[in-house]
Parts: sequence; C-alpha cells; structure tokens
Amino acid sequence: MLTALFQEKVFSTIHYSREELKNLRSKRNIFLCPHCSSELNLRVGSQNVPHFAHRSQFHCVIGKQHESPRHLLSKQLLYERLRDHFTEVKVEYYVKELQQIADVYVKTKTKKIAIEIQCSSIPIPDILSRTGGYQSQNITPFWLLTQPVSVKQNGLLQLPSFQQAFIRYSPQLHYFLLYFSPEDRNFTLFTHLIPVSVSAFISAAPVRIPIEQFTLPLSIPHPTVNHPYLLKNWNQFRMKWIYNKLHYNKAKSDLFLREVYREGDTFLYLPLFVGMPVFPHGIHFKNHVIEWQYYMWKDCMKKDPFFSEEKVVEVIKRRMDRGYLEFRTLPFVCGEQLLKEVVKGYLSLLKDIQVVRRKEDGQYQLSEPWNCPDNFPDFEQHQHDFFHKWKHILKKV
Ligand SMILES: [Zn+2]
Repeated sequence: MLTALFQEKVFSTIHYSREELKNLRSKRNIFLCPHCSSELNLRVGSQNVPHFAHRSQFHCVIGKQHESPRHLLSKQLLYERLRDHFTEVKVEYYVKELQQIADVYVKTKTKKIAIEIQCSSIPIPDILSRTGGYQSQNITPFWLLTQPVSVKQNGLLQLPSFQQAFIRYSPQLHYFLLYFSPEDRNFTLFTHLIPVSVSAFISAAPVRIPIEQFTLPLSIPHPTVNHPYLLKNWNQFRMKWIYNKLHYNKAKSDLFLREVYREGDTFLYLPLFVGMPVFPHGIHFKNHVIEWQYYMWKDCMKKDPFFSEEKVVEVIKRRMDRGYLEFRTLPFVCGEQLLKEVVKGYLSLLKDIQVVRRKEDGQYQLSEPWNCPDNFPDFEQHQHDFFHKWKHILKKV
C-alpha cells in the first residue's frame, strides 16, 4: 500500500523522499490502515518503492492481498504521470459504495476513471464484476495489464486466456493488447491481432509508448503501423495445426475430427478456403479457424450451392448452441452482432478470391463445386491456383 492514515489525515508515501520518510519513521510516528485501522509498518528500502505493510494481515481484506513491487511501482509511475495532466488524481482511492479500491483514480472534467493494474492472473468473472461495479457508479474502469507478455521466437504472441481478456478493439488498430512494463517505464502496443491457435496470435510490429507520452484517454501515435497483417506464413501455421491434430490422433475423442471423418472428407486435403484469416473480427472464435469455417462449409455451402448470409449465421449459431463452437471471452470488446460481422467478413473474402459469387438477390453461390483431390499432385494444383489469388488479396490488406 502507498497510503495510510497519519494524524487522522490521508498520507501517501509518493509525496515524500526516502530521507523524509526515514525521518518520519525514526520519530516513531503511528500509521494506520485506512480500511481496518490496524497499525502499519512503513517500509523504506533501497530497491522497492517505499510502502506500508500490515503487521498482522488477518483481519484486513486489503492487507491479505499480496502486492508485488511491480504493482507498487506501477501505481507510483502512473500517479506521477497523470498528476501532471489532471487536477484530481488519487492513488488507492476507496470507492465507498463498492467497498473497492481503485489503484489510481482520476477525475477529469467529464469523467471519473479508475485504473486497475493487473500484475497477476485473477479469474475473468472477477474482472467482470469489478467492471460492473465501477460502471454502476458511473466510473469508467481502465484495466492495465502489467503481467509480462510472452513473444515466441517465431514472433507469435502467446497469450493465456487471462491476458486475452485485456484485448480491446479500435477501428484503427483493430484488435489490440496494451501492456505496461513499470521497469522499462513504457507501454507496448500489439495491434492487428489474428489468432493462429487458441492461444497464439500474429501481431503487427509492436509499438512502444514511453510513459511520458501516456495520457487518458489513451492516444496512440499515428501512423506507426505499416504492415498491419503479417500473413506470409499463414499457410505454415494452418498446416502445422492440421499436422498436430493428425499427430496426436485423437480421432475418437475429438469432436471436430470425428465429424470430418464421418462426412468422408480427407482432413489433409480440405479446401484451402477453409481456414483463412478473417480480419478483423475472426478473432472472436476460440476454435481454430479451420473448425468454424469447416462447419460453415459442411452445414451450408456443401449442402446447397445457393445460400444467404442469414442462413450461414443461423447454421453457426446452432453449432455454438450445441457446444461445437465457442467465442472467446473478451470483456473489453463491446460490439453487437459480432457473429454476423465475422460471417460477413468471411463471405466477402470468399467473394474476393472467387470461391463464391454474389447474385443480384443478395444470395451467394459456390463458383464451382468442390472435388476433393484424390492424390497429392491434385492437391498441389489446388494450392497453386489458390495462392495465386490469395497473393493479390494480401497486397490489399
Ligand atoms: Zn488494513
């Protein structure tokens, strides 16, 4: 904690130097917890941000929460940065109505904002309930991820579902993730996210924003993103997923594989338009892109050469209701009719690569029926034809 009660007033360590704090401590002053009124120790070391700690943590909700040095440092840095911009900035602000403490609280001319710093994983329902609480008090929560984000050697972002919950959307950056590193005093922005598996994502080149440029609402230097979608390796990722599935051969227990085999399709030779990146909204499906596009193809296009957008939406909805498909939990993305947007995006891609035609009445039609290749050379021919068109699409992105 950075705040305590001192001589019946709120006292925060961030307003004092280490020397001043040491001096106060040496005079045996008494600092009390603002929440449970128990006595606190003032800790002034050489490494961590000076802070208060409970002597006995048993009775206090706040005292029980373990606060990492990164959390303390993040609070201090954000407070110091925002104080230069707004007149009303508070650290560890207690919202009485909610019995909740905002790490940093900012009151602007038009808005009240609570910054929640997240260094460690908490259950997503907790994020949702805290968010709901703030909103009920007309406070806008601003969740900030400070837990380190892992970037693999192949450049893919590896995001556990907790970190995925911090994904946001903007028309310029599409789906993006903002990460704050207090040690480096900067923010990193991963934009134009596209999933290649449940937890791995392609992102545009990361953008760094020093804390000196941070403000609320978040403003992003433009135009920093040159090549938003780096998709040249897309087919590699697609094939890797297929080979992984074949390698682990869970045909009996895998709902999806069972369906492919029962239908008589060759998993390795599925048409390449099944499993295409749909930007930006395709990210909403937690299932691999091959899975949801396969169901679309099997339940709709394969059955009937003429189909409407509404029909596709209906078919996918049914699959979701039956548990075959699932959306990711992205609590900070608000949007209506997301499924419709995803379907629309995919159909428009299929139209661009001439897999389907759009007729005058708005219905779609498969340009030619799909014949599953019997052998590898035939499949290679399909690959050759397909990527020729696909290359042109990539240029437009
Ligand atoms: Zn306490």
